[in-house]
Amino acid sequence: MQDLPRASRDCLRDAEIAPAVLAWYDGHRRSLPWRAPPGVLPDPYVVWLSEIMLQQTRVEAVKPYFENFLRRWPHVAALAAAPIEAVMRQWAGLGYYSRARGLHACAQAVVAEHGGSFPTSEAALRTLPGIGRYTAAAIAAIAFGRKAAAVDGNLERILARLDALDVPLPAAKPLLAEKAARLVPDERPGDFAQAMMDLGATICTPRRPACGICPLRPCCRAAQTAPEDWPRRTPKAARPHRRGAAFVLRRGDLLLLRKRPPRGLLGGMTEFPSTIWTDSYDPLTAVRAAPLAADYRRLPRAITHVFTHFSLSLDVFVAEVENEAPAGCRWVREADLEAEALPSLMRKVAAAVRSSGLGGWPARHDELSR
Ligand code: SF4
Repeated sequence: MQDLPRASRDCLRDAEIAPAVLAWYDGHRRSLPWRAPPGVLPDPYVVWLSEIMLQQTRVEAVKPYFENFLRRWPHVAALAAAPIEAVMRQWAGLGYYSRARGLHACAQAVVAEHGGSFPTSEAALRTLPGIGRYTAAAIAAIAFGRKAAAVDGNLERILARLDALDVPLPAAKPLLAEKAARLVPDERPGDFAQAMMDLGATICTPRRPACGICPLRPCCRAAQTAPEDWPRRTPKAARPHRRGAAFVLRRGDLLLLRKRPPRGLLGGMTEFPSTIWTDSYDPLTAVRAAPLAADYRRLPRAITHVFTHFSLSLDVFVAEVENEAPAGCRWVREADLEAEALPSLMRKVAAAVRSSGLGGWPARHDELSR
């Protein structure tokens, strides 16, 4: 492994960082629904549930989902016994749906292989579905008081700034992971992990970090210059753009839905039947892929959505039919749409159709060829 740059060895006194951060945490810790009172180890189920939900997701967005899940499935055995469809429905709107499938599979593995109790070591936690390096370390530290470094983007940002590390991400990851492991104290490793999370969320933010009130300012190199310039990053390739079509079919007060394949993007979620999403999509021929032949009208504006690896424009075609549901689809009362496991993209489609009045506009040739 590459050595840390000379500057960091000179500047930082690693042993002083944990005490400074813990002292700050004792006075400024965030009150969050999944946190135990000071000095109490929280329920591992609660820690695990919150950590899975918080991946790539803002705290404020997670709170209502966390509370609903906990109310409905108050322990891991209850979640394991729930039908996957119910879990997916409860997760709808939170995004990154593979997490919901992993959550359910993990609950079942904890019950089947560990007697309903989460294992306590990072290594054993990592053998469970949906639990990666970061989540295993966070659970081990927070729920079991293990000396483990939970390294995510927030912690990488803080550590890169402390050292004003000029090695760009992602190449800097091993250096930052090594530094993170060195900083974890013997006492209160779980509080230290949560303190660094809070510091990254409230003080050492990506933009306009509040260096003036930061407990790490005395040993932070970036604070002496322009902290927002760290971490350095290797420029990313532009996000590709894809296009596709969704078909909103109505029969009286019923709407046609189907379940997406269990694997892949939005796997297992419910959708208005849609084409594949591709960069070679052709709006002129899109309706050939519709689940039923009908007199389709297209909404004048495509729905746009940004996924992690691509952005999407989705044309929405609307029609009224009298048919039975084709294979793989089902009719659902519009009033029951809220209870379906519709991802955010499909909720946008529903909202656009609703605000259009569903009468739509004739799919004129000149409109389709735009
Ligand atoms: Fe981040 Fe500023 Fe604190 Fe350095 S002093 S860790 S840049 S908030």
